[in-house]
Amino acid sequence: MNLERLLRKNIISLSAYSSARDEFKEVNEAFVFIDANENPNNNGYNRYPDPQQTAVKQKLAELRDLEINQILLGNGSDEVLDLIFRAFCEPNNDNIITLPPTYGMYSVLANLNAVEIREVLLSTEFQPKVNSILEQQDQRSKLLFLCTPNNPTANSFDNDLIESLLRSFNGIVVIDEAYIDFSINESWLSRLNEFPNLIVTQTFSKAFGLAGIRLGICYASKEIIAVLNKIKPPYNINQLTQNVALEKLERITNVKEEVNSIINERQTLISQLETIPLFVKIYPSDANFLLVQVDDANLRYRQLISKGIVVRNRTNQPLCHNCLRLTIGTPEENQKLITFLNQLS
Ligand SMILES: *Cc1c(COP(=O)(O)O)cnc(C)c1O
Repeated sequence: MNLERLLRKNIISLSAYSSARDEFKEVNEAFVFIDANENPNNNGYNRYPDPQQTAVKQKLAELRDLEINQILLGNGSDEVLDLIFRAFCEPNNDNIITLPPTYGMYSVLANLNAVEIREVLLSTEFQPKVNSILEQQDQRSKLLFLCTPNNPTANSFDNDLIESLLRSFNGIVVIDEAYIDFSINESWLSRLNEFPNLIVTQTFSKAFGLAGIRLGICYASKEIIAVLNKIKPPYNINQLTQNVALEKLERITNVKEEVNSIINERQTLISQLETIPLFVKIYPSDANFLLVQVDDANLRYRQLISKGIVVRNRTNQPLCHNCLRLTIGTPEENQKLITFLNQLS
């Protein structure tokens, strides 16, 4: 893969803004830091945060068995994805390929960055149609987004299909693994070093239970990460976020326990929903939510709202007619849902 061919021209020649903390990195208590115009009175947050979030990345590198220079952190996956657009896609010139029904942010960011979107619907089994995707690509196709497990369909894509896309797509393949910890499939991180055109994104928002701190992760070759590092805002991850992320990574067994209980609860919820007649279909789930087809999605959505239960109505998404998306809640929340649905039927 020729990285320079894929990058935007202005990005290749750009040099990163050099912050005070980039120019002098050694953090030594004994030093006098009068280089960044900070307030000198220590309150825990008076200093700018580490622009490279080294402590957090060190933990992630150990956890995922990768090098620190293969990791970039963003203000949520949103920022990570936006940086990828800005690195690779020339506005009003390049295009990206998405596979609806899928996560809405890819097209939002494409529109924001004035990048053409080529949509290739998933198959009726919610799998990528490899030949159709390859027919859509041209020399200006820079990014292909594969969300697996996919939101809102809840399934994972077949590994063979993903691998053939990684081998035949002539741009960057972004695998969005926001839900990977709930999946029986292994992360593509284990094969990152095999594919120079692979970017894997993950997040602290789902399995880690930290949507509020806004922390997204990007894993890629060190060459791609170096480019993204050059264009990210210098202090994009604040100190509070770095502190909380680090605490969570130090207690990773808690995350695994929570994930396991959500997976168990998912199975309980599926068995209970299966007995309720208004459900036409409950799709298999490899994530922390269910895609369900009901008799009348708009009606059931309104009825649930009237009982204070908020689900996501996906009926207007392609291949999702009369579908609702339900996040797995606590056992009490799920019970409340079931009790109300039973009254409806
Ligand atoms: C929830 C979700 C994310 C997470 O986004 P953040 O900005 O990190 O909170 C990313 N991708 C998909 C497909 C999601 O559903």
